[in-house]
Amino acid sequence: MSKSPMPCKKGPGVARSDGYHVQYHLGKRWAYHRLVAHWAFGPCPDGMEVCHSCDNRWCCEPTHLRYDTRSNNLHDIKKNGRVYRKLSQPLADAIRREASTGRRQQDIAKDYGVSQTQVSLIHRKAQWV
Ligand SMILES: [Zn+2]
Repeated sequence: MSKSPMPCKKGPGVARSDGYHVQYHLGKRWAYHRLVAHWAFGPCPDGMEVCHSCDNRWCCEPTHLRYDTRSNNLHDIKKNGRVYRKLSQPLADAIRREASTGRRQQDIAKDYGVSQTQVSLIHRKAQWV
C-alpha cells in the first residue's frame, strides 16, 4: 500500500468517544469519513466498507480512504497490529466461551488472530473491544 503524501485530515466538529466524526446528511447519520468516501468515490458498494490506509479512524482525507471488504479491512488491521480494537462482541463471546472450557489461551489466540493477553483480558471480562 502506497503512502499518500497528503497529511491526515480531521473531520469537522468533535469526534465521538469512539473516535468517529458524525455528520447528518440526507436525513441519515454518517460517520464523516464514510460521507467523504461517498462524495469522493460514490455510494459504497454492497459488502464493502470504508477503509483507512493511514490507520487513523478519524481521518477524513479522501486519498487515505478506499472501499474494501470487511475481511480485507480486518487483514489490514491485523497487519498493523490493531486486531485489538476491532473485536466484535460476538467474537469476544466466542473467545470467552472457548477460554471457559479451559482451552489453552495461546491456542485460542492463534485461532482468532488476537494476542494471548487479549484472550486473557476477555476471559476475565475486563474488555471485549
Ligand atoms: Zn489519514
